[in-house]
Amino acid sequence: MKVYTFPRGGLSFEDPTVPPRDAGVIAFLPALSVVPLIQHTGGKALPVVAAGDQVREGMLIAKAQGAGSANIHAPVPGSVVRLVSWEHNEGLVIRLGGGFEKLGKEEKAFPWEDLMPFALQQLIAEQGIVEMEGLGRPAAEILGSFRAAPEEPASLVVRCVFDDPWLAADYVLCRERLKAVVEGSAIVCRSVKINRIVYAVSHREKDLGGLFLKEAESYGVPASLALVGSRYPQRNRRELEMVLRNYEKHEGLNLGAFLIMGPATLAAVHDGVKLKKPILERYVAVGGSAVKTPQVMRVRIGTRLKDVFAECGGFTGEPQRIIIGSPLSGRRVTDLDEPVVKTSYAAAALLEHQGGGTVMRNCIGCGECRMVCPVELDPEFLFKGIKGAVPGTPQARECHGCGCCDLVCPSRIPLSAIIHDRRM
Ligand code: SF4
Ligand code: SF4
Repeated sequence: MKVYTFPRGGLSFEDPTVPPRDAGVIAFLPALSVVPLIQHTGGKALPVVAAGDQVREGMLIAKAQGAGSANIHAPVPGSVVRLVSWEHNEGLVIRLGGGFEKLGKEEKAFPWEDLMPFALQQLIAEQGIVEMEGLGRPAAEILGSFRAAPEEPASLVVRCVFDDPWLAADYVLCRERLKAVVEGSAIVCRSVKINRIVYAVSHREKDLGGLFLKEAESYGVPASLALVGSRYPQRNRRELEMVLRNYEKHEGLNLGAFLIMGPATLAAVHDGVKLKKPILERYVAVGGSAVKTPQVMRVRIGTRLKDVFAECGGFTGEPQRIIIGSPLSGRRVTDLDEPVVKTSYAAAALLEHQGGGTVMRNCIGCGECRMVCPVELDPEFLFKGIKGAVPGTPQARECHGCGCCDLVCPSRIPLSAIIHDRRM
């Protein structure tokens, strides 16, 4: 089968400190959970419980308020201890206690096949389903705003592109919850009246693609497999759309508009609609050179990072950097009391040598950044232009923040952040 890749730039990289992709270890339930009121793009959800209240597993504890906001549910049963706040967020602290309503119980399935699109979107909103990566845009908003042009076909693209080894958690989820991902895809198709699915799968995981297609046969929605490259940033929207248009042309298809969703989001849609179960846990790849036993774990939302790392055997030495998400594109955190949220697909603790140093030096004009930019920008030129207010930096708008230039810069210049700031 032909493999579709974007034409230039990008990086292929391995990371031996990423956890093995063999299984998702179920993490211990945390004695104390910190459940943030912002786990999505919009404003904080409004708490509907207070200190002293008892909560059930999966119970609504904070209600979405306005655009970009999503409902929040109790990941564990217990009592609300207090409301805490930290930089840009607030959260409810829950002390574990009482019986579980979902864990270890037989799951009841609800038929969804005859529900109208609007009813499906409403269920997805009620269960607080968000895009399980990035900033966590509410899934119901993504579906509600998806519009193909009149008479134009549309395709759901299931993005299983593992161009960053830190996507190990999504890979394990695909293997362990394949049926949920496929049924979630069928639910999304019904909720926006899409009649084709394209599984975009990294070529190294061709067998996974075959399993998706086989499972998809049960749902009556035409599905096809596009094998794509594994070079970063293949999963970025721009690079993915580019290769899918080539695939469409080569295969003689008419795919129309693309609705792109990741496997974790689709599994969450399945749980929310078919099982009426909100997001209670996230597959997280926990690793990095400072972690004794890296592993992919199924972690309850609200579990603090210190508990997550402790369950991986703790640290081998003082971490220089702790990152939520991939070291390539994630967010640095300084407080191990920060909890896992719906979008936390990875948590990395890096020792000095892997941290790469933080001292920025002068540009040496090596040109490495130019070689890897997939958009054919000149990051050195843009960076110097921005610093010296030289005209020509409007090109910065084309930067999509993939971070390839940062990764190769021997002078440790945070090029993508500087260019991105100018883009805003
Ligand atoms: S300039 Fe932007 S698009 Fe180009 S490599 Fe850097 S971050 Fe990526
Ligand atoms: S990679 Fe860094 S040092 Fe090399 S030209 Fe680009 S900005 Fe300068």
